[in-house]
Amino acid sequence: MDQRTATLALPATPRSFGFFVDGQTIEAGPRGHFERRSPGHDVPVTRMPKCTTADLDMAVAAARRAFEDGRWSRIPAVERADVLLRAAQILRRRAEEIAYWETLENGKPISQARAEVGGCAGMFEYAAGAARALHGDAFNNLGEGMFGVVTREPIGVVGLITPWNFPFLILCERVPYILAAGCTIVAKPSEVTSATTLLLAEVLAEAGLPAGCYNVVTGSGSTVGQAMTEHADIDMVSFTGSTAVGRRCVAAAAGNFKKLGLELGGKNPQIVFADADLEDAADGVAFGIGFNTGQCCVSGSRLIVERSVARDFEAMVAAKLAKVKVGDPLDPETQIGAITTTAQNDTILGYIAKGKQEGARLVCGGDRLDFGRGQYIAPTLFGDVTGTMAIAREEIFGPVLAVMPFDTMEEAIAIANDTVYGLAASVWTKNIDKALTVSRRVRAGRFWVNTTLAGGPELPIGGFKQSGWGREAGIYGVEEYTQVKSVHIEIGKRQPWVG
Ligand code: NDP
Repeated sequence: MDQRTATLALPATPRSFGFFVDGQTIEAGPRGHFERRSPGHDVPVTRMPKCTTADLDMAVAAARRAFEDGRWSRIPAVERADVLLRAAQILRRRAEEIAYWETLENGKPISQARAEVGGCAGMFEYAAGAARALHGDAFNNLGEGMFGVVTREPIGVVGLITPWNFPFLILCERVPYILAAGCTIVAKPSEVTSATTLLLAEVLAEAGLPAGCYNVVTGSGSTVGQAMTEHADIDMVSFTGSTAVGRRCVAAAAGNFKKLGLELGGKNPQIVFADADLEDAADGVAFGIGFNTGQCCVSGSRLIVERSVARDFEAMVAAKLAKVKVGDPLDPETQIGAITTTAQNDTILGYIAKGKQEGARLVCGGDRLDFGRGQYIAPTLFGDVTGTMAIAREEIFGPVLAVMPFDTMEEAIAIANDTVYGLAASVWTKNIDKALTVSRRVRAGRFWVNTTLAGGPELPIGGFKQSGWGREAGIYGVEEYTQVKSVHIEIGKRQPWVG
């Protein structure tokens, strides 16, 4: 049977991983393991070393040596590009294996994981070109005796803290760009989804990345993650996760004034005008909240819909959500898989209960789904939501959509901006003036017109307001990991100061 159309089998025994420092895999040994159970099946699938802060120190020292001796930071960009291109090829070759472990640890559908890994290969290819395109500036207008040059230099050793919702995709929205800039990396994946971050170490080593340039330390956020944000020998930390932990990163970074890139929470509006192609918009809105079980920082969790069509549109979205196939993540037909962590499952069910208590009208979903094992929640839609309700204000990070009607465009923009977050937004309309006005006025780092969750290696990602600092991906994402230096060059002889 074709492997891609069959439901994949669970591993017979959990796979044990070592962590990765200076080109070597190091087994857990006396550190011990933590075990990950597949959220879709509730069976053990991986075992990861419980790394310590001493392990982190060892990884940072390796990354520092690799950075300072120039084995990566000072080679020609074309050689860096060659490694990134080879990595893309290897990723495509190993895509099935990477997707499998991603699905087992995260609970996302295997078809989605496969598509994500393909997208990740594309990011390495893009970053290979960006490495060679990266350049500075020259100033030929400083007078006869002076020439000015601005160069870009890699920022140094980068600590990379990634979350559990897109363990591999978020990793690959950063790693190739950081490497393209000439930096070295110590990565700390979420302790529940570390496998594919370690598989990337194998891919990069095979591609010819020198030892010490990409290191992985597995362990808990409160020990290894916190120590990384405090570490005096790390020049920059890229953190993706909750706004609460992002705030702690800011405090911890003060020790050595390390630069931070922060991609945090979102409560993203989907504005639907009555003149939109409502069938297409309903499908897009359902995708925007159902994709990755809504465990997505850019998921469209607030539906702001023109009152004249609100009830009909709500019913159209509910009908779409009812048709979505929720189930075993290893079944290629599945569109919505499991909730990744037990804590997240409880959080989502807690918000659903709160929505009911606060008087929102439950249109569909609203409960867990019982498949005999694993944790699943039905896509849920609440009508009659007001701006003060918790389900309208707080990031739920689950498949729960809050519907709020509007009468005028001004009101729609005001509701969209009534949030501390500013990560992403969508507008659905056939009127170009409305689309452009809303896109200019909604305060968000990513904006979609008549679509949602579109992405690719070229366009930058990042947030306004409390959704974060800095940008990842695109040429902006490479520049983020550089710093600029100005060089003044005297032509001829300088004017003496002392005669
Ligand atoms: P966290 O912010 O706790 O986790 C994100 C990453 O940070 C993980 O690698 C985690 O490690 C690490 N981490 C945890 N504590 C620290 C710390 N003190 N210092 C440095 N790193 C740390 O997210 P949660 O897993 O608790 O999820 C809670 C909520 O966060 C979700 O409900 C959602 O609202 C939001 N979230 C947003 C994401 C986004 O993409 N913007 C992604 C994930 C969550 P470990 O997992 O090993 O503890």
